[in-house]
Amino acid sequence: MKPAPFAYKKVRSLGEAVALLGEKDARLLAGGQSLIATLNMRLSAPNLLIDINGLTDLNGISLKGSVVEIGALARHAQAERSDVIAKYAPLITRAMPHIGHPAIRNRGTLGGSIAFADPAAELPACLLALDGEIEATGPKGKRTIKAQDFFKGLFETALAPQEVLTAIRVPAANADTRVGFAELARRHGDYAIVGLAASARADGKGLTDVRLTYFGVGNTPVRAKKAETTLASGNIDAAVAALDLDPNDDVQATAKVKKHLAGVLLRRVAKQLLEARP
Ligand SMILES: Cc1cc2nc3c(=O)[nH]c(=O)nc-3n(C[C@H](O)[C@H](O)[C@H](O)COP(=O)(O)OP(=O)(O)OC[C@H]3O[C@@H](n4cnc5c(N)ncnc54)[C@H](O)[C@@H]3O)c2cc1C
Repeated sequence: MKPAPFAYKKVRSLGEAVALLGEKDARLLAGGQSLIATLNMRLSAPNLLIDINGLTDLNGISLKGSVVEIGALARHAQAERSDVIAKYAPLITRAMPHIGHPAIRNRGTLGGSIAFADPAAELPACLLALDGEIEATGPKGKRTIKAQDFFKGLFETALAPQEVLTAIRVPAANADTRVGFAELARRHGDYAIVGLAASARADGKGLTDVRLTYFGVGNTPVRAKKAETTLASGNIDAAVAALDLDPNDDVQATAKVKKHLAGVLLRRVAKQLLEARP
């Protein structure tokens, strides 16, 4: 199928993008790896596509003090190869190879993935597991939204209609940081049936500040808070028993299978968290 007709404008400034978002049924185009598919399937039919790929100020990856800042237009492939991310946000490095295939990662952007908020996507879960934040720019200027307040529902975020996601920020990892990542998909590169992104801090031989964020088990990334507390005490079996997820059946698996897989993933990720720093 072909998309419904639309107007196209490549913008030269963030201000221009924000202004054009005020037009009826306007939509931002970043890597196009999700949007173009939805247009071709006629799941959406915007009047205007605002191409932000020329906004090169939005594609940087840098360490700013104790925070890693990733511009919205950084490509998945760029993040996958970034030394800054490997050293200071290793959870994202671990997640990257699971996102689609190299051709998709060459075009897809981190900002696009977070803004699209697919409940089975890796990056929203990583951002929540890392207690990260989102920077958005709209007609009233910039604001920062905590990841825990950003994912509101199925493909629904806290972004206002005229806001552009401009960057994401996560606390930089240090010697005490522990991360873990695992997912189960039918084929490598498919969206996960269930996935788990996790972070914690080493505390002697145990863990503290455990954050277990599942994806593919609800309308948004979901933290398993009871299991987090239990895992911090070092008992993996008890953490699996404490998993309080409530997934629905979907096209990939029944709720029962998803719950079982969530336990399998927790055992794998718990081992990674309890190992030495990556
Ligand atoms: C075959 C295939 C397999 C895939 N597998 C996976 C997978 O396993 N895991 C996964 O996570 N993803 C997967 N993807 C999706 C891929 O990661 C996308 O790149 C990503 O979801 C969207 O990023 P994008 O830059 O392509 O955004 P686009 O497709 O350009 O935009 C997506 C949506 O976000 C909005 N948007 C984009 N940028 C911004 C911004 N800066 N501010 C506000 N709104 C914005 C757009 O208006 C649009 O509504 C797959 C895609 C394909 C085609």
